Amino acid sequence: MIGLMQKHPLIVSSLIEHAGKAPPTAAVVSRTLEGSIHRCTYSDIERRAKQVALALTALGVQQGERIGTLAWNGYRHLELFYGVSGFGAVLHTANPRLFPEQLAYIINHAEDQYLFFDSCFLPLIEKLAPHLKTVKRFIVMTDRLHVPATTITDLLCYEELIAQNSGGYSWPHLDEDAASSLCYTSGTTGNPKGVLYSHRSTVLHAMLLCMADGFALTAADSVLLASPMFHVNAWGAPYAAVMIGARTLLPGPALDGASLYRMMRDEEATAATGVPTVWLMFQQFVHEQALRPRQELKLRRVLVGGAAVPPAVVETFERVFGTRVLHAWGMTETSPVATMCNPLKKHALFSEVERIDLQRKQGRVPYGVSLRIVDEGGAALPHDGVTSGRLFVRGHWIASEYFRGEGGGILDKDGWFDTGDIATVDSDGYMQITDRAKDVIKSGGEWISSIDLENAAVGHVAIAEAAAIGLPHPKWQERPLLVVVKRPGLELTKDELRAHLSKRLPSGGCRMTSSSSQSFRTQQLESYRK
Ligand code: AMP
Repeated sequence: MIGLMQKHPLIVSSLIEHAGKAPPTAAVVSRTLEGSIHRCTYSDIERRAKQVALALTALGVQQGERIGTLAWNGYRHLELFYGVSGFGAVLHTANPRLFPEQLAYIINHAEDQYLFFDSCFLPLIEKLAPHLKTVKRFIVMTDRLHVPATTITDLLCYEELIAQNSGGYSWPHLDEDAASSLCYTSGTTGNPKGVLYSHRSTVLHAMLLCMADGFALTAADSVLLASPMFHVNAWGAPYAAVMIGARTLLPGPALDGASLYRMMRDEEATAATGVPTVWLMFQQFVHEQALRPRQELKLRRVLVGGAAVPPAVVETFERVFGTRVLHAWGMTETSPVATMCNPLKKHALFSEVERIDLQRKQGRVPYGVSLRIVDEGGAALPHDGVTSGRLFVRGHWIASEYFRGEGGGILDKDGWFDTGDIATVDSDGYMQITDRAKDVIKSGGEWISSIDLENAAVGHVAIAEAAAIGLPHPKWQERPLLVVVKRPGLELTKDELRAHLSKRLPSGGCRMTSSSSQSFRTQQLESYRK
């Protein structure tokens, strides 16, 4: 017997349609490329997203075709999130931090028909254009006044394009299983692979972020997205904030400590998202400037993921900012959020030190995702918090295959996806990543967690950043090499660092190298090319 309830598809346009009816307060605050602050309401975003949809119609775009973007977090990018997917085309948010060859590869692979880009990426576009086989026209996301001189023929101006198309438009009733957006994996092994999200998976994932045991977004929040909209769609936050009616703060390309702090303070951000590297730089800025974030900011919680959050970052947020860190884990294939480290009732009795320690873990799965850990032979391993194994997941917002079937089947016979991460799970269900399967440092019979090593190093007051690498070794098979950046003005010898590590790790014995801040930053940015 079929239930007798209404069925409305879970589609991306329904989010902005809902938010567009909310009271017209300034809902989206963006820092433009020029540095000025732009404010608009969600009904402005919906109206202009409909103009985007009309423009796509006029350009002859068909539903299901891919439309690329190369852009920072800004209101025009948000309009494309809704205009392109709402129209029924597929938004491909390409990552400008990829190498140009990789970018050309993914844009050709996706067969993007049109490419929208921020004017700062013009030199990159000019370089790429001769190699892009399917792109019919390029659209620079600015007004006529700011269109730069270029060698690109027939360059379109975003504001002019959408101004020509301001008639009435109703969002089409799409199938909720239709594709809404496309993101490529970082491609550290082989070519990047496309993960094709559906409207349904996107809406369900946004609901997770709004759940109290998710990121707990509410209409009273102002959420600053320091996670780029080209990295797994800013972790779904542009959908979740719109769904719940939270204010969205978009910092543009300005992810440095000073710019983020100013936006947080001036716009009274209550929540923020970002990778550990961004928060490390942010906290360093606050420390150097001797600012008083507890008094000046209203930041209540920060969602940190993309890499393990160093306990020192959690501690600084807790003690200096009065901000709770929510450690999350996920990947492009998981939309991305698949686990979050929210507390249980018993943790209310935890001391501050224990609370900080809990955030080392990547957390529990919400409704909608299941996980398991298995040994090399595929046998399930116990959830004892000690035994580590390969992490498998499945659920409503987990990929079932890559775009165009790249790489063949990616699920095992029971529908589980092998994440390539190594993890433990404790008896309360808290998962902790110990390594990437390919990154784990295999020293003799012992597996050394590069994450533990990096966290232990960053726990030293004189160390700003650390990266552990496995080096081939004739006797041990592999030995860890630790590369560290010292905090400005602080000194530390190899022996002092060895002594520090040996108290925190089972055995010391690392060869140590130090690197200049600049070259390490470059490496960090390289590793952040995801
Ligand atoms: P990407 O698909 O480029 O976002 O990368 C996903 C990978 O980043 C995961 O498979 C993990 O190896 C790593 N990752 C993401 N979040 C975390 C986290 N909280 N802790 C440790 N590793 C993480």
